[in-house]
Amino acid sequence: MIHFNYHTHTRFCDGKSDPTAYVQEALRQGMHSLGFSAHSPLPFDTPFALHWDKVDEYCRLIRDLGQEYKDRLPVYLSLEIDYIPGISEDFSHLRTPYPLDYTIGSVHLVQPPDREGLWFIDGSLQEIYDSGLKDLFDGDVRKAVATYYHNMNRMIGGQRPTIIGHMDKIKMHNKGRFFTEDEPWYIRLVEETLDTIQETGGIVEVNTRGIYKKRSEDLYPGKPILQSIRKRNVPVTISTDAHRPEELTAYFDETVKILTEIGFRSVMYLEDGKWEECALC
Ligand SMILES: [Zn+2]
Ligand SMILES: [Zn+2]
Repeated sequence: MIHFNYHTHTRFCDGKSDPTAYVQEALRQGMHSLGFSAHSPLPFDTPFALHWDKVDEYCRLIRDLGQEYKDRLPVYLSLEIDYIPGISEDFSHLRTPYPLDYTIGSVHLVQPPDREGLWFIDGSLQEIYDSGLKDLFDGDVRKAVATYYHNMNRMIGGQRPTIIGHMDKIKMHNKGRFFTEDEPWYIRLVEETLDTIQETGGIVEVNTRGIYKKRSEDLYPGKPILQSIRKRNVPVTISTDAHRPEELTAYFDETVKILTEIGFRSVMYLEDGKWEECALC
């Protein structure tokens, strides 16, 4: 099975190396294709996102790499765009001025409906997740998780990202403490999001990062959700959300096996700039 990865972060945001190091590692591993997806800039400072004054340089550098290596490795330009209703702008404000080959839409920050502040559900610190849940949602996990999935639905329906990033990342710091993923209210929220994807289209990312970083025992999304995705015939792609070159294909082959066992026959990949089905084998 060929290897590809369209979700990667470099020194332009919170990744560790220069984009060139990723291209060289991809060549060393004989990868089929590679996409760069820096965290999109936000209207406020964050420790993880690309800065507005670096977007031009980022786009130029990735395009130049694509030119330089065009005979050896297809290189694609993208952004992992954050969606916060009323705070982040429409995806068009990045799609229109910049020549992105595709977009990844993700929710990392959740604004409660009734007060100021953002719940950061990602990152390495469980304490930040816990304090956000307590201070911004009064510890009401159902309300907090529902707000996360409702924001995701608005993003999918309104912004139409090419790829829906790590759709159940909300589980990462939960670790079965506040809710379990087999509770009916949780399953209902997930199914609603899958309904939205089925209606509007979009590729669901199967993200391996939680496993190789040992932050999750399952993929994002986990197996029960993947089974539902399979039944609905919604397309998926595999990515590792690499923040270092050596993570480019981490847990990729194991994920192929898991998807095959669930009944998937193909995953989506880019061939000459077009999304095609790649048979699982
Ligand atoms: Zn992300
Ligand atoms: Zn990412």
